[in-house]
Amino acid sequence: MSVIINRDKCNGCETCVSVCPFTAIEIKDGKAFINEYCQICMACITACPEGAIKEIPEEGTQQSAISYQPSAYKGVWIFAEQREKDLASVSLELLGVGRRLADELRAELSAVLFGAAENNAHELIKWGADKVYHAKDTIFEKFNDEPYSKLLVRLINDYKPAIVLAGATLIGRSFIPRVAARLRTGLTADCTSLEIEKETGNLLQIRPAFGGNIMATILCPNYRPQIATVRPRVMKKGEYNPDRKGELIAVNAENLACRTKVIETVKETSECKVNLQEADIIIAGGRGIGGTKGFELLTELAESLGGTVGASRAAVDEGWIPYSHQVGQTGKTVCPKIYIACGISGAVQHLVGMQSSDIIIAINKNPEAPIFNVATYGIVGDIFEVLPLLIKKIKELKA
Ligand SMILES: Cc1cc2nc3c(=O)[nH]c(=O)nc-3n(C[C@H](O)[C@H](O)[C@H](O)COP(=O)(O)OP(=O)(O)OC[C@H]3O[C@@H](n4cnc5c(N)ncnc54)[C@H](O)[C@@H]3O)c2cc1C
Repeated sequence: MSVIINRDKCNGCETCVSVCPFTAIEIKDGKAFINEYCQICMACITACPEGAIKEIPEEGTQQSAISYQPSAYKGVWIFAEQREKDLASVSLELLGVGRRLADELRAELSAVLFGAAENNAHELIKWGADKVYHAKDTIFEKFNDEPYSKLLVRLINDYKPAIVLAGATLIGRSFIPRVAARLRTGLTADCTSLEIEKETGNLLQIRPAFGGNIMATILCPNYRPQIATVRPRVMKKGEYNPDRKGELIAVNAENLACRTKVIETVKETSECKVNLQEADIIIAGGRGIGGTKGFELLTELAESLGGTVGASRAAVDEGWIPYSHQVGQTGKTVCPKIYIACGISGAVQHLVGMQSSDIIIAINKNPEAPIFNVATYGIVGDIFEVLPLLIKKIKELKA
């Protein structure tokens, strides 16, 4: 969407200049001129007494309300993210939930893949997709919001899926809101569960709200597609079938008219060291750990088990460990085989980030701590007595 001025109608009255909250309109040669600060808030359009300002849709923007028919939108799509040409595991998790939703709707499940090799597209079929829309142009190798959002919008307008799912990753969080805005539809971020409403076929998008104190069910009944993002490790992967057949559709990405290009991507080294989301064993510490000395004990246990150290927000806020280790609503969502929670009370904001772990072991001196409600095994005791015993035992067993 952009805003333009009809210079024939404009009489330079400056009404638009005074209403613009972004100082995006100037008078040049007696006529209004819109500069680069325009946020398309449209305040000038209603204010102009001459009707000289109007909005024009950009390429791919959803049709006017008159021609827009939600019933024309069918099927479930997932955006399959790739990093350095390899599929991100969240893509396979989205195929798991997408397959279930598509089966309930008796619809097709399609994946959209930008920039990876063709064998990845075939892998998506084996993980559950009926169709894969694949654009392999080099422009997609490194993530860039502009071409990614332009092409996804174009594909959605052409093929009209009813549901689009993407990962709530750095990439998904960056460009999916832009896609939703271009299409003038809704987006629910960070869903923890997705269901189909039996009576209507609408997508029930469930996520924590109000600081995690309630679970909200969000609907987008009047616009299509219904777009939702899901954090990595929240959903389980689907079933892998090496004999599964599907359709591969090569996508033409010509004429995207991009103004930006990615020259270089630099990884932040401190973040790279902590790969909580891929870890099989996480030993997490909370306020009960008491300080950096306590975290040294956790690191020793993690090293003896081949695990990674996680933390509650309280421990991060105390400055005992960097934010990159935080698990929970405002940290990472993890799903390891074993999660050992040490001195963590079990606040709901922490639980939403780890309660899908296969085995949860909680160590806490308070037998009433809510963490025990989700724990597979609970040890009531002082961390500083329990952990050294545990480390000693593990070392003995390994020896
Ligand atoms: C919007 C919002 C987002 C949030 N996001 C997150 C998030 O992403 N992640 C997160 O973790 N929190 C988050 N929080 C904070 C959350 O509400 C809790 O405050 C936090 O999880 C508490 O951390 P804790 O369990 O380490 O500390 P506490 O609640 O203080 O619990 C400490 C526990 O340690 C036990 N203990 C103390 N000493 C010992 C000992 N020697 N041995 C054994 N046990 C001991 C105590 O019995 C207690 O249960 C968020 C809050 C809000 C409002």
